Amino acid sequence: MSVRLRFAPSPTGHLHVGNVRTALVNFLYARQHGGIFMLRMDDTDTARSTAEFARAIEEDLHWLGLNWDTSAHQSHRREAYDAAVARLKQSGRLYPCYETPQELELRRKVLLSRGLPPVYERTALDLTDADRERLEAEGRRPHWRFQLNQRPVTWDDGVRGPVSFDTASLSDPVLVREDGTLLYTLPSCVDDIDFHITHVFRGEDHVTNTAAQIELFEALGGAPPAFAHFALLTGAGGESLSKRAGSLAIRDLRAEGLEPMVVNSLLARIGTADPVEPFLDLAPLVYGFDLGKFGRSAARFDPHELEVLNARIVHQLHYTDVADRLPGVSEALWDAVRANLTRVSEAQDWRRIVEGPMEPVIEDAPFLAQAADLLPPAPWSGETWAEWTAAVKQETGRKGRALFHPLRLALTGREQGPEMKALLPLMDPKAVRARLARG
Ligand code: GLU
Repeated sequence: MSVRLRFAPSPTGHLHVGNVRTALVNFLYARQHGGIFMLRMDDTDTARSTAEFARAIEEDLHWLGLNWDTSAHQSHRREAYDAAVARLKQSGRLYPCYETPQELELRRKVLLSRGLPPVYERTALDLTDADRERLEAEGRRPHWRFQLNQRPVTWDDGVRGPVSFDTASLSDPVLVREDGTLLYTLPSCVDDIDFHITHVFRGEDHVTNTAAQIELFEALGGAPPAFAHFALLTGAGGESLSKRAGSLAIRDLRAEGLEPMVVNSLLARIGTADPVEPFLDLAPLVYGFDLGKFGRSAARFDPHELEVLNARIVHQLHYTDVADRLPGVSEALWDAVRANLTRVSEAQDWRRIVEGPMEPVIEDAPFLAQAADLLPPAPWSGETWAEWTAAVKQETGRKGRALFHPLRLALTGREQGPEMKALLPLMDPKAVRARLARG
């Protein structure tokens, strides 16, 4: 049977690095096994989900190259969920509760003050039909809880190994709110069953949900998928990332000029035994994906690593990879400058320097005037710089920095940059003479 995995974001905000890591591990495993990667929009929370966020998520995934084979919106599947709710009510696993949030909170505090776990005590199970009628007559509407088995639930976690979780330590989860809206738990299980999801890879913040969901899969007559829970990402100093999620939104990284494969290369490897390497496409990440290499301790995400990795990827990009993003930049210019860039867009700065107009920096006017007289005749080639500087050296007796530095500054206005032998032939000889003569 082929594998089927899903990435299930809630469109209540923009994708951030934590989400993308989840998307990536699902995508890589699906591709490695020739299976299906599904995008599921968990948009049952109609108050917070928006179509704009859903579109933005799709756009970000496309930018990253994490293309999906099929997709679904939970907001379109209410009938399937209602049918599941009806079945659970019929089998007695879903029961109506009438406590208000204030009553529940008070009870929680009482339990905690007695040193007891704040688990819902199932008082609603003791209600008689007459009690329920009276409560409804008072205007109360029920919310519905799923009755857990209160037994250890076990699974073999792809990252954490054998896990045993006793559902006696959990409150029976509310599946349907008082206003009839659904919480995430039930739609997720119904979808995983209906779409034949074989593997669920997600963050370890879902471990507790998993125990309850395994019971729910069974109550709905579906086989639970295989689970793997990944250690959460933290900031470089070990702090929680969620607080800063806004600043790590994928669209911001894109706006900052980072390459999509930088994000993929880093997120596929942090928290694993493998080193972070700059990959130009997803293929090596697909072949190399190995659940067994993910550790259980928090994976540190350092945005600075993105910068370093970006430069390493940009240095390898071919002109054809970037030409459409760099109008006016020729292949020769790209090849001359790419090893000096940290961002693709910086090639435009060098185009402006090469084509002018630019303000030369004149360090030693008489020396530059002498050098101008020795410029070889056009056309210029990759040898011209060496010929020219050899002639200037001979004439002036200068060498090393005293020879090269004033020339670079006059021609580029910068202290450092790409090799002059590659830049010079891209410049207009007349403009070069003018720059040298500015003093
Ligand atoms: N919408 C859920 C989330 O973003 C999905 C969790 C899951 O993968 O089941 O946390």
